[in-house]
Amino acid sequence: MEREREVVIGVKSQSTLEGLFEKIYRVKAIFKNKEVLRHSHTPANLPHRDDQINQLATILVSALRKETPSNIIMYGKTGTGKTAVVKYVGKELEKISTKYDANINFIYMNCEVVDTQYRVLANLCNNFCSERVPLTGWPTDQLYSLFIEELDKDTKVVVIVLDEIDKLVKKSGDDVLYNLTRINNDLENVKVSIMGISNDLKFTEYLDPRVISSLGEEEIIFPPYDAIQLEDILKQRVVLAFKEGVLEETVVPLCAAYAAREHGDARRALDLLRVSGEIAERKGERMVTEEYVRMAKDKIEQDRIIEVVKTLPKQSKLILYSILHLKNEDDGPIMTGEVFEVYRELCKRTSLDVLTHRRVSDLISELDMLGIITAKVVSKGRYGRTKEIYSTIPFYRVKTLLKEEIL
Ligand code: ADP
Ligand code: MG
Repeated sequence: MEREREVVIGVKSQSTLEGLFEKIYRVKAIFKNKEVLRHSHTPANLPHRDDQINQLATILVSALRKETPSNIIMYGKTGTGKTAVVKYVGKELEKISTKYDANINFIYMNCEVVDTQYRVLANLCNNFCSERVPLTGWPTDQLYSLFIEELDKDTKVVVIVLDEIDKLVKKSGDDVLYNLTRINNDLENVKVSIMGISNDLKFTEYLDPRVISSLGEEEIIFPPYDAIQLEDILKQRVVLAFKEGVLEETVVPLCAAYAAREHGDARRALDLLRVSGEIAERKGERMVTEEYVRMAKDKIEQDRIIEVVKTLPKQSKLILYSILHLKNEDDGPIMTGEVFEVYRELCKRTSLDVLTHRRVSDLISELDMLGIITAKVVSKGRYGRTKEIYSTIPFYRVKTLLKEEIL
């Protein structure tokens, strides 16, 4: 049995350092190609997104007829396939444009990175100008004029995709969208269409009504996937990612069920599957079992909390540390008053300003909203109201992390 031999080599016979990597490298008991489970991988087809793909294609077909496609806003929570669908349709559009001799440019930007008006314009310029525009420093007007001039040099249709557009708007306002949605007035040869993708369903609240009406000419909604749909999405990758027969039958349904509870997030489903496999691999196992999916779920949740804790402001870190310190002592709920006492001591030790009771209570509520702790308001009769605090986070990892960072 080839598989068996490979496992034995990896786990047992590393007695010499010679060929260390080679031996580990050859252990391939679980995965055939792990890369297809990563977020960067674009699958060849996208089950359960036919409606959205068709809607998008119906709007963009205008580009082939050398007309301006309507502007579009696309909404859906993270992991509902928005980016994957847009990239897929964009690729198809560019492919077919050669056949119909239509000059179409499909420009994709992620506004998590390209998050200011300047960066958006500089990025666009760099798509069309021969000379590169610096990434800071020019006046915005000059940048815009250069872009118009270079863009309008030949006849074409340009589709500009602003992915994670909610991040751009929250950080830098909607000026750039106002300008871009009116850009066709300044152009003679070129027709521009704007496509905005948002993870936040309420992001239009941040927009000027004029921007909403021009950007939202068409709307495409990406609903969350249910467990059955997520199973289909996973099954498609399983064949490519895993060796035959290494998954226990319940693994895929369990990953799908967990991710369905997590707002139908395909990314989460894929992460669960990948991490389950990695855990099995690290243990030198030949089967991925249900138990590893549960371990993967815990690991992913813990990692998420650690990431959130890392980015907390210093005062919140101190408050969280106080809570964890108190949790050490007994298992019952912790009261705001107790937290405040410990917090005040810690402030002295770290020479940080002591915030008011009220402010500390607000920050505790914020920790609750981030899902790091649970705080329940209880009435203490004539002593007023207090919060009972519970925490279920990876206690030692978080406490060690905080200790390193604040003390
Ligand atoms: P969003 O942009 O909505 O946050 P993505 O398009 O990035 O979501 O999708 C998250 C992950 O799930 C990606 O790896 C993507 O390839 C995968 N995915 C999403 N929808 C599907 C689908 N219908 N079929 C196959 N894979 C999908
Ligand atoms: Mg996306």
